[in-house]
Amino acid sequence: MSLLRQPLLLLARSAQVKKLVSTMPVSSGIVHNYVPGETTEAAVGATAVLEADGLRVTLDFLGEDTLDAEQAEATVQAYLTLLEQLAHQGLTRDAEVSVKLSAIGQFLPENGHKIALENARTICRAARNAGTTVTLDMEDHTTIDSTLSILRELRKDFPETGAVLQAMLHRTEADCRTLAHEGSRVRLCKGAYLEPESVAFQDKLDIDKSYVRCAKVLLEGEGYPMFATHDPRIVEIVSSLVSRYGRDQGSYEYQMLYGIRPDEQRRLAASGETVRVYVPYGTEWYGYLMRRLAERPQNLTFFLRSLISK
Ligand code: FAD
Repeated sequence: MSLLRQPLLLLARSAQVKKLVSTMPVSSGIVHNYVPGETTEAAVGATAVLEADGLRVTLDFLGEDTLDAEQAEATVQAYLTLLEQLAHQGLTRDAEVSVKLSAIGQFLPENGHKIALENARTICRAARNAGTTVTLDMEDHTTIDSTLSILRELRKDFPETGAVLQAMLHRTEADCRTLAHEGSRVRLCKGAYLEPESVAFQDKLDIDKSYVRCAKVLLEGEGYPMFATHDPRIVEIVSSLVSRYGRDQGSYEYQMLYGIRPDEQRRLAASGETVRVYVPYGTEWYGYLMRRLAERPQNLTFFLRSLISK
């Protein structure tokens, strides 16, 4: 693991640095690489461009860890507006939304779990009416039981709701077994959060091995696996596993983040694979950007340069 990963992930939670950095406009170099814009229009515009290139999309209205009920409510409203706009422009066949429960109330001191469930239900209903679905993003390990329990509740009315599992966690292979049932949609990623040794693999090779074990469980099961990674080695391994498990193209998908390996996204799509791009938008891009820098510290120089020139 890179020496810079830990400090950058700690900075991702720093309110002071967030205040300093967040005054940068989204249009400034490094932010714009990862976030197409701050508005619904920018997000819908980026979706139209990606769909025209044969890619599918999942949209994330940026924000997390809110302790403010009004902010949680504003985030729900942002999703409702987004879904309406996507439907209006005929984009919901290939675009869904990704939701962080901590952005819609999960951490509120009173009834956080219940409020997040009700807010997620509102977004799922709007997504259903717009002809699309919701995937619940996964955050740090302390939130997993609450998130999976909200998923179970939502799936009673909206069985199309997707979940995310993180290969870096020791528990994930077992969670994959539980969720690899017919009708389930599971995004498998490595995991973007700083996690202690007690719950997570720390070594890159161990995380990669866990990813492959989890991929096998999902492919062997009856659900629809969504392989979220930019790692060329993992993509290659998954592509050989899908043949081994007799999976047809379209019975699983690859996912990558907006702005990361765009040529590979298009190459996979051109070869007949389903590829979905995760498109984050909005003003609350700080935590998201810091996690991306932690994964790719080479980009830190560009980031510092944009800070200095602001
Ligand atoms: P890494 O181990 O970071 O990198 C492996 C290799 O991939 C690198 O050596 C390089 O060859 C290539 N690579 C990686 N990044 C780049 C880059 N920027 N440019 C060029 N090549 C690169 N995490 C969560 O915890 N919860 C979520 O809900 C969640 N949702 C996600 C949704 C999507 C669609 C994706 C793609 C990721 C999501 N993540 C989420 C983040 C994920 O957990 C990882 O932190 C992130 O994807 C980096 O891991 P990686 O698999 O790409 O490989």
